[in-house]
Amino acid sequence: MDGTTETGAAGYKRVMLKISGEALMGDQGFGLHPPTVERIAREVQSVHETGVEICMVIGGGNIFRGLQGSAQGMERTTADYMGMLATVMNALAMQGALESLGLHTRVISAIPMDQVCEPYIRRRAVRHLEKKRVVIFAAGTGNPYFTTDTAATLRASEMSCEAIFKGTKVDGVYDKDPMAHDDAVRYDRISYDDVLSKHLKVMDASAIALARENGLPIVVFSLDEPGGFRGVLAGTATHTRVG
Ligand code: UDP
Repeated sequence: MDGTTETGAAGYKRVMLKISGEALMGDQGFGLHPPTVERIAREVQSVHETGVEICMVIGGGNIFRGLQGSAQGMERTTADYMGMLATVMNALAMQGALESLGLHTRVISAIPMDQVCEPYIRRRAVRHLEKKRVVIFAAGTGNPYFTTDTAATLRASEMSCEAIFKGTKVDGVYDKDPMAHDDAVRYDRISYDDVLSKHLKVMDASAIALARENGLPIVVFSLDEPGGFRGVLAGTATHTRVG
């Protein structure tokens, strides 16, 4: 492990929290809902207090998705860059919420924008984590045709995170959509290959394949559950472990 310090909650030293942009919009259909951003920031604070080093990747789907833009006639790469910029807005919103709780944070962008946040320099990001700053990785991978799920997997691998915690609206991975089917069954554990072959919506296929190659577990849990992030790190909250 590269430069991590002593162990925090449930034996984890360093983790990646991936949330979609939509998690920040609350019950609105679009954009940011400040009380929801603050609620998630408190979840992060509660884990940070236990001594775990925390990386975050936040999507941009609450503001802009490249695929939707290109479906409306926009050039795909331009639309994807707009999506990446949306993730920077979300990262700044989360940074503000975390800092108002007294945490130290850094936003690090895959697309340099020096007046707004730091550029991505791996060793510098590791140093921030060692100093117990929450590091929010923005602008995805910096490349079009990717998603923030892949960005989270990539950065988690580069930062030697022990697992990716994917906070969603449901408490794990189900054999079919639990919102639409009462008889949907949740998996406690599932392999990367089964996620891919059964086309389960955990993360996109390139993110799953990258996690598999790097032996990086993905833990899916409900971010709507109060104390869910801390609970899943401690192994007490319901979740599915992919790996
Ligand atoms: N995006 C991209 N490259 C990346 C990450 C994101 O082009 O490495 C763009 C892509 O257009 C995507 C948008 O940013 O639709 C928002 O990210 P994502 O869809 O992953 O957000 P989420 O669904 O997690 O909110």
